[in-house]
Amino acid sequence: MPVFFVTADQIQNGTVTITGPLCDHLRASLRLRVGETIWLGDERRQRYLINTTHLDRRSVTGQVLEQIAGPAQVHPSVILGQTLLKGDRMDWIIQKATELGMASLVPIVTSHTVVRPRTDRHSSQQDRWQKIALEASQQSERWEVPTIAGPCDTATFFETQQQTSCRLILSERSDGQSLATVALPSKPDESVLVAVGPEGGWTKEELGQAQTCGFLPVTLGKRILRAETAALASLSVIQSRLGELG
Ligand code: SAM
Repeated sequence: MPVFFVTADQIQNGTVTITGPLCDHLRASLRLRVGETIWLGDERRQRYLINTTHLDRRSVTGQVLEQIAGPAQVHPSVILGQTLLKGDRMDWIIQKATELGMASLVPIVTSHTVVRPRTDRHSSQQDRWQKIALEASQQSERWEVPTIAGPCDTATFFETQQQTSCRLILSERSDGQSLATVALPSKPDESVLVAVGPEGGWTKEELGQAQTCGFLPVTLGKRILRAETAALASLSVIQSRLGELG
């Protein structure tokens, strides 16, 4: 059952009006007709069964037939601090990490980051990544869409994330604790942040900065994984340990 995402403010007094790309998709790809129903979801983890009452090139309008609330959050949320990677690897990580249930992603520009985003392209790149997260959320039938933040440098990242309950930095070639056994929070209002380094690895200074800001170095074992492998492996281990994959 596909669920399409809208924003809560598009649903007023029991009716919804859809415009833009979703309207085009419903009309052209899904060939939606008046009288047919679709499911919509919003950022408040609510879902709405909609009866289509009108559609034209500009908009689709519908009546809310039923509204259901998403299941309560029972596990801590997981945030991915991901160093920017070349090519479409970032797209790939966002798609897969969304399917694995990440709550948000913060792109990090580190000393060894190879790709340097042009400032004038930040917002268009963030919009594109947010669209990938939206599509992956729809495909995996999630109740919410992860947020993709704007890129930031390591110092800003380490300092601004200090309110996260549990902060982990994936540190290759280190004798850090294993991710499989490090203590994780358990309450739904807590969060786990895992930071993944670039192809060239973290610098000593960055690892020092991270630990000063309360990040715990953790290892995924002796093999050196590609950054995208480490990102998904760490998410899978954490989500499995939190009970999100069972
Ligand atoms: N250039 C680094 C080196 O040769 O030591 C390897 C960096 S690795 C390709 C990219 C990132 O993935 C690392 O910075 C780290 O965050 C993570 N990573 C890879 N293998 C890991 C492991 N065995 N344990 C913890 N983190 C790992």
